[in-house]
Amino acid sequence: MNENIYGDDFDFESRIVSSNVTGADGDTEISLRPKSLADYVGQSKVKDNLKVYMEAAKSRGEMLDHVLLYGPPGLGKTTLSTIIAEEMGVNIKVTSGPAIERPGDLVALLTNLSEHDVLFIDEIHRLPRTVEEILYPAMEDFEIDIIIGKGPSARSFRMQLPKFTLIGATTRAGQLSTPLRDRFGVIFKLELYTPEELAQIVTRSAGILGLPITEDGALEIASRSRGTPRIANRFLKRVRDFAQVMGNGRIDEQIADYALRALEVDELGLDAVDRRMLETIIRAFSGGPVGLDTLAATVGEEAVTIEDVYEPYLMQIGFLNRTPRGRCVTSLAYEHLGIKRPSAQRIDGVQTGLFDDGE
Ligand code: ADP
Repeated sequence: MNENIYGDDFDFESRIVSSNVTGADGDTEISLRPKSLADYVGQSKVKDNLKVYMEAAKSRGEMLDHVLLYGPPGLGKTTLSTIIAEEMGVNIKVTSGPAIERPGDLVALLTNLSEHDVLFIDEIHRLPRTVEEILYPAMEDFEIDIIIGKGPSARSFRMQLPKFTLIGATTRAGQLSTPLRDRFGVIFKLELYTPEELAQIVTRSAGILGLPITEDGALEIASRSRGTPRIANRFLKRVRDFAQVMGNGRIDEQIADYALRALEVDELGLDAVDRRMLETIIRAFSGGPVGLDTLAATVGEEAVTIEDVYEPYLMQIGFLNRTPRGRCVTSLAYEHLGIKRPSAQRIDGVQTGLFDDGE
């Protein structure tokens, strides 16, 4: 393959692609990742459909259609992609939108794939537009147009690619351009996990890490992990530290509660930022509605972080509503924070935003 097709010189192997998946938590993260669909807890609808698509593709001797996975961070998009490759019996190359800076980077990646391989692009909504345009014919016809030279002597020729499966991951499908989204044959939304599902994940991870854990202990960690496996695994490791230093090494409900309190995670899993955000809406904006950007500026977090990381769980537990006029806190949140909710007010015959939460 020609690495200088676009006049770029780059070391794509080390910089933008990896066939290993590592996690933020280092080495153990690798071993905590389930390797088969059977070990992948929850998301049953996604798994059921995926099984059918994979089996059908295999029996036709074809690669799996391109898959888009979307949902908040830490729900298992990367994990599911590695499982898909494993179950299809193909290699996976892992990269991310921001790492592919130039068209040449993507061309190098695509031309290095083998037949039916999986190319996983995390944060696919952050692909530069010039790179995205190369992806359209690559996804649709497994071809790319390559231009060699500049000015009048420039020549263009079409290059065939191996038939591959693109798996794109994004926190929100709406962030993707329509032409890119339309080229995915399979689109899955990953949902937040129930405490019972997370307890299964915690128990499994504890088993892998060799930690004694009670059922109550696993459920305590699970119910405070905001529906997110990555958080559950992180909490498990922190609770383990407390259990080793303050207890007898065994993780039970009591030590889990003690450790999570020490981490400022309350019994519903809200952390200091969640509480600050809810309190800000209540105290500075009378419970809402408040626009996302105003809220972000007031609490000192990025708007995308609020939308992707904090809001999904707060909305799921019914503490926050998104309305066309902005975010509103519900009475459940008032109750949880122990703040008394002012009674109904009407201004010029229009009910104020305080009760915009459909209650
Ligand atoms: P994302 O790519 O969506 O940010 P990851 O795939 O990196 O999330 O998942 C974060 C961690 O959570 C993984 O390392 C894995 O250990 C764990 N995990 C995620 N989903 C599951 C699941 N369904 N079952 C068991 N563990 C999971």
